[in-house]
Amino acid sequence: MPRPSPSRPATAAVTATAPLTGPKSQALFAAAQQVIPGGVNSPVRAWKRVGGNPPIITSGTGAWITDADRRRYVDYVLSWGPLLHGHAHPAVVKAVQQAAAKGLGFGAPTPGEAVLAQTLIDAFPSIEQVRLVSSGTEACMSALRLARAATGKEVVIKCDGCYHGHADHLLVAAGSGCATFNQPDSSGVPAAFASLTVSVPYNDLAAVEAAFAKHQGNVAAVIVEPIAGNMGFVPPAPGWLAGLRTLCTREKSLLVIDEVMSGFRVAWGGMQVLANVKPDLTCLGKTIGGGLAVAAYGGKKDLMAHLAPLGGCYQAGTLSGNPVGVAAGLANLKLASKPGFYTSQEKKLGVLTDGLAKLAKRHGVPFQVGRIGTMWGFFFHDRPVTDFASAAASNQQAWLTFFRTMTLNGVYLAASPFEAAFWSSAHGPAEVRHTLAAADQAFAAVAAL
Ligand SMILES: *Cc1c(COP(=O)(O)O)cnc(C)c1O
Repeated sequence: MPRPSPSRPATAAVTATAPLTGPKSQALFAAAQQVIPGGVNSPVRAWKRVGGNPPIITSGTGAWITDADRRRYVDYVLSWGPLLHGHAHPAVVKAVQQAAAKGLGFGAPTPGEAVLAQTLIDAFPSIEQVRLVSSGTEACMSALRLARAATGKEVVIKCDGCYHGHADHLLVAAGSGCATFNQPDSSGVPAAFASLTVSVPYNDLAAVEAAFAKHQGNVAAVIVEPIAGNMGFVPPAPGWLAGLRTLCTREKSLLVIDEVMSGFRVAWGGMQVLANVKPDLTCLGKTIGGGLAVAAYGGKKDLMAHLAPLGGCYQAGTLSGNPVGVAAGLANLKLASKPGFYTSQEKKLGVLTDGLAKLAKRHGVPFQVGRIGTMWGFFFHDRPVTDFASAAASNQQAWLTFFRTMTLNGVYLAASPFEAAFWSSAHGPAEVRHTLAAADQAFAAVAAL
């Protein structure tokens, strides 16, 4: 791994007006704003919430990214999760180059698709067949169409603060991006679409039970993030996922576990294996494409048989199962398939999260930090966060000061307090040292508020 060379001294002071990025990033972002709405192709990238413009990233290697002004950062966003082994891992890059040399896509079956499907089936005991798609949005949207097709019911129950992509009927209390813009619903979504979605607090089985009672006999599915990662990092309470399983079985509704983020991040087989809960359908994405556009949904064969061309539930995609994406995903997953991969990474990540907790305590800053596998996150809160209401009650001024100081000291975090953070196998003790040195400054700045 290249040695860190923080482009700014570790003592960079933060003031409310200090620009977060250098002149080249500013100029490139100004140009992008002329031709792209808000200058970004996905809203949270815009750094609106943190009162600045984003750095324009020009390259990444291992745990580090470099921006247009040659500032370097330890990256805990990792393309929002896919990069389990850091940037430009040689094995993943080689797989992509080899696949690309054979043709970028055919819109016809290719050998790798069944290999990736088998890998997912082997990893997830609840999956017998999968359909590959190109985004997590598509995976969740299609899984719920399938759930409605299979049950003949209409209503979907989701949780406040959980994000399942930007399909119309799922943009209800949808977490990070929406929370960041204080826009719990999107404009352009007809009330009639949203009316078939019921949102309840995360970790609240009684609320799910009440929603079932209210829509007696018409609930097609409950969809849930098994670890909420789109309202910050919020782990499932003991019994929450098993309780959802019991309720769905009792009500003849399907349980859809959205592991687009948690999938190959927390364990081989996802959070559902750790919680020992078998959903009817699983959504996957992010990590299974290794940084390229691959996602999937899957479940039991009889359920998947409702999909065209076997059944009447239609779902399609020009780029679905793209051979270059599939090659990247397979290479990414292969590196994680070694026994002990997740426990050893979680141990390494623990040095970081324990270090952050210790620093916060030393500076007298109320702080909650947690981790599962290679997923982690923190809140400026004096009590553990269990749902969107408690996440939203965290100290956002403290978060903003922390974020800005970390950025100016070469640590790249998601620009919203309602996002999870990630760790990769390319991160190690040098990155932890760099991060904790920055955090020492950042907690001091928070304590001074
Ligand atoms: C990112 C994410 C999605 C959406 O995936 P895209 O590829 O961005 O469409 C869906 N569900 C969860 C849990 C996610 O984290």
